[in-house]
Amino acid sequence: MSQCDAPGLTPVDEALTRILHEVTPIRESEVVSLDQACGRVLAADAISPMNVPPADNSAMDGYAINPGSADPERTPIGLFRQRGVVLAGETFEGVLGRGECVRIMTGAAIPEGTRAVVMQENTEVIDAGVKIDDPYGVREGDNIRRAGEDIAKGAVVLSAGRRLTPSDCGLLASIGVAEVEVIRPVRVSLLTTGDELVAPGTPLSPGKIYESNSFVLQPILARLGAEVSVVHAVSDALADIQKALRDAAAQADIIITSGGVSVGEADFTREAVTSLGRLDLWKLAMKPGKPLAFGQVDNALFLGLPGNPVSALVTLHQIGLVVLRTLAGEQVAPRLRIPAIAQGRLRKRPGRTDFQRGIAELHAAGQWQVRSTGAQGSGILSSVSQANCFIVLEQERGHVEAGETVMVEMFDQWLC
Ligand code: AMP
Ligand code: MG
Repeated sequence: MSQCDAPGLTPVDEALTRILHEVTPIRESEVVSLDQACGRVLAADAISPMNVPPADNSAMDGYAINPGSADPERTPIGLFRQRGVVLAGETFEGVLGRGECVRIMTGAAIPEGTRAVVMQENTEVIDAGVKIDDPYGVREGDNIRRAGEDIAKGAVVLSAGRRLTPSDCGLLASIGVAEVEVIRPVRVSLLTTGDELVAPGTPLSPGKIYESNSFVLQPILARLGAEVSVVHAVSDALADIQKALRDAAAQADIIITSGGVSVGEADFTREAVTSLGRLDLWKLAMKPGKPLAFGQVDNALFLGLPGNPVSALVTLHQIGLVVLRTLAGEQVAPRLRIPAIAQGRLRKRPGRTDFQRGIAELHAAGQWQVRSTGAQGSGILSSVSQANCFIVLEQERGHVEAGETVMVEMFDQWLC
């Protein structure tokens, strides 16, 4: 049962839990070369076949020294006999004896017998040898990067379900990985519905509006690495929507529609889904986004986004992305929200979680402050374009007065 005061509306967290219960992550994988792997989801743990760094090496340009068995805290302040030079990529053949040193460059392998590396700034070459004069003394192991100190051979460097970032790809390169097994892309069928919609670039006759939702939704899906096929402006007729859904279900893991899920006389999407499959959930306690619907058509998941442009964006971001990322095999981390002081009054009715659009700034005292972008109608897409965050107002909260604390969620990589 819904714990929501507003009858028939499912609270956002509960809805997400119920929806995710129906999502079986894709397991099929493919192998891609590392330079194509960024943004893909790892299909299996990445295990290091080697130590990183592979051998002890110098963290500084300077001298590798062997002060012998004497206390290394004090004795390095003295004269050493230089045995040679070792550059990055080279090795020094031989063993450093007591009182000996080797000039060494950053990244070069540490010669056998070395006790520490002294940075060049604390050394001086004189006729009699190399004078080491470190004002802080030199401790055993100073300026030596140990083999395996970054990554030990056999360690799990990245876990299955990780969406690979640029630094992850660098990490994989550093352990010699050239190919990666990743989950295959999610196949999405995106349908926009509405007899009033015409494509930008064509004349607008009376009663029509330009179709904008696909221009919001498609780039977000592209950032996710999904394979998207789009059917624009399916007409508001039950048979047409049924046909479009049936065709979509034959090729997609998930069908995402916009429009036609509300209670208007031309809203046939839910009826079409029910006739072909099943509707698991309809109407969320969220604003914007109340008419969101979820279900299945044949073997494809169905996510019905509301038609209003801000509602479509917010529901794809808050619900759809979690569904799609889970479907894509990703381990999805909880969203990051931070407290901020409301700079002005925010109008809000209890009963739904609001995702108002705001502009957050960090003020001098280290305090986040946030203000509304203004009119918050679910058709006002400019409220999102001007914003840098959602102001997330809890379901049972009423109006927010200036000075009260609210939670904000900064726009993430899917929206920026
Ligand atoms: P609906 O949910 O189909 O009743 O649509 C709600 C509102 O969103 C209506 O004003 C529609 O004209 C508008 N709308 C629906 N789909 C789109 C779209 N793809 N692009 C722009 N506006 C849309
Ligand atoms: Mg419509």
